[in-house]
Amino acid sequence: MNVKCSLCGRRAVIRIGYAGVHLCEEHFSSYFERRFLEATRLLRMFERGERVAVAVSGGKDSLTLLYLMSKHADALGVEVVAVLVDEGIRGYREEKARAAEAYAKRWGVELVVKSFREELGFTLDEAVSALMEDGLRYKPCTVCGVFRRYLLNRAALELGADKLATAHNLDDEAQAFLMNALQANLPSIAREGPRSERVHEKLVPRVKPFYFIPEKEVLTYALLHGIESPPVECPYIVYSLRHPLRRWLNEVAERDPGVKHRVIALKNALAPLLDRGGPFRSCRVCGMPSSGEVCKACQLRQYIERILASR
Ligand code: SF4
Repeated sequence: MNVKCSLCGRRAVIRIGYAGVHLCEEHFSSYFERRFLEATRLLRMFERGERVAVAVSGGKDSLTLLYLMSKHADALGVEVVAVLVDEGIRGYREEKARAAEAYAKRWGVELVVKSFREELGFTLDEAVSALMEDGLRYKPCTVCGVFRRYLLNRAALELGADKLATAHNLDDEAQAFLMNALQANLPSIAREGPRSERVHEKLVPRVKPFYFIPEKEVLTYALLHGIESPPVECPYIVYSLRHPLRRWLNEVAERDPGVKHRVIALKNALAPLLDRGGPFRSCRVCGMPSSGEVCKACQLRQYIERILASR
């Protein structure tokens, strides 16, 4: 990019389209970190003395969040631990997990790994091949998402974490809103936000410090700070509705840079008007939070175990 920084005239590294400015490396980095810190303070994501579990996948977003959380842990007054869920996706997760382990070590953060194999008795690959034999009633990302959320929460509970921080950014949230809208999943639209409350004693509240930050800015910050992730893609992404929605939203944003912010503004205006579902109770099988008598993770696990046993 041969354009000058709108603030100092040095070479710009990014155009912030919705703000109409170009920024150099130094001004962009301080702008980005300020927005991260402001989000945590304005939305009261953390209290001093809290233990925060950061969910890492080994991708650039979650590694950037781990970097910033460890860098600013003292200023925020929190203790940081990292949690990674290994779903068992051959050729993908091992590489990402290695990157997460290396960075956690470099930044001096304890990393705890929970695997589908150890916690559920099967990998995602095994679950998907079983589901395919049964007509693929559940898509791989649905299965992955249900168990990952379940295990992240369980890991955060076991670690005594007060909060579980995830790296969902503005793009992720805009895509999730569109997916939920297309599936008429109104309770999810109502529940998902930049922070959640403790609605059940075993549900660790979630916070999303990148909720208002576009993916392009997170990736630029990662690049400028040498945060790298193996360039492998999950083989199941092709089954996900998120994939085409992401492409479409990016195309629209090329012509209309503020569109993702407006999708989120629409979502935030709608959410308080919708029924959140619930209240949460304890799953009859595992005792974890559930909106029904048996939680989704136990239902899905029993279903997959039945197919695997009948083979
Ligand atoms: Fe899981 Fe789907 Fe993401 Fe793959 S693309 S890691 S299956 S949610």
